Amino acid sequence: MENRNRRQFLKKSIIGLTGAAMVPGTLTSYASVSASKSTVANLPARVLGKTGIRTPLISFGTSGALDTGFIRSAYEAGIKMFFSATYYGEGKNEQIVGAGLKGLPRDSFIVGTAVPPDGFDNRTGTFPNGFDPDAYIKKAEGSLSRFNLDYVDFVLFPFAGKRETVLNEGVLKAMGQLKKQGKTRFIGIASHSDMEEALTAATDSKVYDVAMISYNYKTRNIYSLNSAVARAAEAGIGVVAMKTTAGVYNEKSGVQYNSDAILKWALQNENISSIVSGMSSLEQLQKNIQMIKNLKLSEQELKDLNLAGIESGHGLYCQQCRQCIPQCPNHLDIPTIMRSYMYAYGYRNAEQAWHTLADIDLSRNPCGNCETCKVNCLSSFDVKNKIMDIARLKDVPEDFIKT
Ligand code: SF4
Ligand code: SF4
Repeated sequence: MENRNRRQFLKKSIIGLTGAAMVPGTLTSYASVSASKSTVANLPARVLGKTGIRTPLISFGTSGALDTGFIRSAYEAGIKMFFSATYYGEGKNEQIVGAGLKGLPRDSFIVGTAVPPDGFDNRTGTFPNGFDPDAYIKKAEGSLSRFNLDYVDFVLFPFAGKRETVLNEGVLKAMGQLKKQGKTRFIGIASHSDMEEALTAATDSKVYDVAMISYNYKTRNIYSLNSAVARAAEAGIGVVAMKTTAGVYNEKSGVQYNSDAILKWALQNENISSIVSGMSSLEQLQKNIQMIKNLKLSEQELKDLNLAGIESGHGLYCQQCRQCIPQCPNHLDIPTIMRSYMYAYGYRNAEQAWHTLADIDLSRNPCGNCETCKVNCLSSFDVKNKIMDIARLKDVPEDFIKT
């Protein structure tokens, strides 16, 4: 009984933590909304570089999909590409995606997964103790069995940033072997930080087929990033965007900016083949599908876009520039902590926030010995406050966070 009460208490605390960012329209249960039965062919689509895959402009980043029915509904609504990761729910998400697509013609959907190598240091974007190709291949094989598929369409190397990492001989060898063995059709990188450097390296490699990059209306140096995207697209790399609506929620004012306008902004760049949207409800799915049917920004959407850019500061969007790490005497992995914060408050995904924090070495009171924060954040975040807030998740046992 005592344990049950504790569980209830912790659940309420978790809901309190993530509920502050509740977004109207995401709360309706899946059952109350039926997906339209449009076909893939009806949705506006672009070709994903040299892969030749024709994909709708919206794809599904499945971290927020908690049941197989939602995956199947998205497929029936016309979504073709599904992106999961080994670290979403510690592999549980890959199982959900595989089960949701079970029995469908294998050539009617595209599945990708992000497989992070062991021993990768997020703070430096490197492998301090080297990279083990065999261990990586084994890890990717684990994904196949969780999806219950003979092959996936993409294996992505996530958190790619540094050129030396993207071009690491061991990484290229492992990726090449996975492709050669038919375990994946294509290989790629996923990059949250140093996107320009990662994209340029991927382009120069002449090996990678796809790149998933963080592409947001608040991204600094968007013009030089756009040039790198154009060079990658020219070289045949299929580029997809993620984290596009990160920052759409203004935590100070509680205002939710116009996400359609923000998504349309990204799709004005025709070198972006599709946006990987982390949808968590059928309403959101239907809204996205409506949005891609007319990419022209209306007068009102242009105004909304302007407002979102001016008013929201940097919202929840961390540039992942890593410039805060050397400023912090404790060398905290602040970019990863900020991602966890965004998952909790922006995506309301406490489980993903928890797992993101679990992957890094973080005490329960990480800023305890620091009276004044030394970090001058590029996005003007109150870093200490955010860290102290999200670090509370460290007190939540894994059992309580699981859905
Ligand atoms: S300086 Fe700010 S924007 Fe840059 S990685 Fe650190 S927290 Fe994110
Ligand atoms: S308060 Fe700022 S400088 Fe101090 S440990 Fe926390 S993040 Fe680092």
